[in-house]
Amino acid sequence: MIITIDGAAGTGKTTVGIMTANRLNFDFLDTGKIYRAFTLKLIKDSIRLETKEIVKHLDKTKIDYTYKEKKEYVYLDKIDVTDEILSKEVESNVSLISKIPEVRNKMTSLQRSIVTDKNFVVAGRDIGTVVLPKAELKIFLTASIEERARRRFAEREKQNYSDILESMKNRDVIDSTREIAPLKVPENALIIDTEGVDIIEVSNKIIKEIDNEYSI
Ligand code: C5P
Repeated sequence: MIITIDGAAGTGKTTVGIMTANRLNFDFLDTGKIYRAFTLKLIKDSIRLETKEIVKHLDKTKIDYTYKEKKEYVYLDKIDVTDEILSKEVESNVSLISKIPEVRNKMTSLQRSIVTDKNFVVAGRDIGTVVLPKAELKIFLTASIEERARRRFAEREKQNYSDILESMKNRDVIDSTREIAPLKVPENALIIDTEGVDIIEVSNKIIKEIDNEYSI
């Protein structure tokens, strides 16, 4: 069974996704981490951020993802980059890189291969619409930009609130207006506003929806 959770940055996809996956004994995949890992590779290799150069680098990059003992691990060319991909530099470049069609094609295939034949909660921007449109349950999370930036600020050391807010606004625009797989509500998705709501309550709503529709 696949549960997708889409939404903008800071809507709670990862926190709610991990909690729900753990309660159901499912695996969890945060697809943003895959785009971040590729972005980190380009930064590390000092690649000029032009489409032609970026696309050439796709075949020179190995990204692996595992969810082990209820924790996510991301490897770039066999090196653990789970923490490094959360940097400000990655964050300010990732949306421009993720809008390139060739990048999306490659990352979409990788994401599909990770979840094949397993029970997964998968979080991202285009999971219910493009990556896994046949998922059994689709969730779309929302919250105001100020609340989303506050949440990110609380998670990140060494970054200030106004930089986070600015970067989030930029990413929102790029992610929701790009031509391929923009951020949007999937058909038949359950929309949950997470503003001021406890994560456990959001997770409860998802689990209740599953209990109503399926017996797992
Ligand atoms: O979710 P997170 O904020 O880590 O995602 C980082 C970026 O990766 C997003 O801003 C977006 O540009 C890209 N992304 C995407 N499609 C996804 C997940 C993330 O384009 N499914």
